[in-house]
Amino acid sequence: MKMRRLFENCVFCNRDNIMTDIIYEDELVMAFKDYEPINEGHVLLIPKEHFLDVDEMPDELLAHLMLVSKKIVADLKEVYHPAGYSIMQNGGAFNDVGHYHLHIFPRYEGDGFGWTSGSESQSLFDCGMEKDNYWFRYRTGAIIIRDGKMLFVKSEIGGYYYMIGGGVHLGEDSKTCIERETLEETGVNCTAKRIAIVSENFFNGVGGEIDGKECHVLECYYLMDVPDNASFETETDAAEELVWIPIDEFSKHDIRPAFLKQELQGVIEGGPLIHILNDERK
Ligand SMILES: [Zn+2]
Repeated sequence: MKMRRLFENCVFCNRDNIMTDIIYEDELVMAFKDYEPINEGHVLLIPKEHFLDVDEMPDELLAHLMLVSKKIVADLKEVYHPAGYSIMQNGGAFNDVGHYHLHIFPRYEGDGFGWTSGSESQSLFDCGMEKDNYWFRYRTGAIIIRDGKMLFVKSEIGGYYYMIGGGVHLGEDSKTCIERETLEETGVNCTAKRIAIVSENFFNGVGGEIDGKECHVLECYYLMDVPDNASFETETDAAEELVWIPIDEFSKHDIRPAFLKQELQGVIEGGPLIHILNDERK
């Protein structure tokens, strides 16, 4: 049998140190849940032999590790139905364990994880907080209407339609947020014409990172001005399908938030600001 380099004081060289579920293992590598997950389903994939950095690892081992990461991503998609995923590995002094480990984790819109650097770091952080079992987010939504149709994102699972929008960043106002989100998701620079609906929504979270949590979402919905001849993307930046639904066919579809079915006509006609208080906690 080949000798493996195992370091006595290395946390990952000794499997007894791994306190979480091992989800994959073969002769060369193993994967287990991160002790402090960024999102639920966060996995660490490591070589069993001790290496610090990617450039120390034999090609065959690295290739094998990448193929295993492919399987893990497929499994995460099946189990968590995330909007996407991230894979990352920190080397040298930024490897806090000292043993190569590849992070693989599901990603969701507004999960607060993102690139941060220097002075950017504050403004890119989504406004939200979690305490005990409470989960709070501050978000915006876009009412984009053209030719009697409204633009929605089609949910990959469940077949419902939800509004374009996203989390307000720390230090950002809601109008700037929805203009930024609309551009990111549709490729079109729309101006937020006016705030139309303010919604305070309370519900019990199901699935993904909010599963079992008591959720509280404050949302500002803006009626957007659509530039003439704007050419909208057919998919968002997260590869979700964008769909135009005729307003007179709303009743046939599962549209979220559902109150749009009742309130949209008033919004279009320039009615007063609508305040929705919705509490689905039981
Ligand atoms: Zn090690």
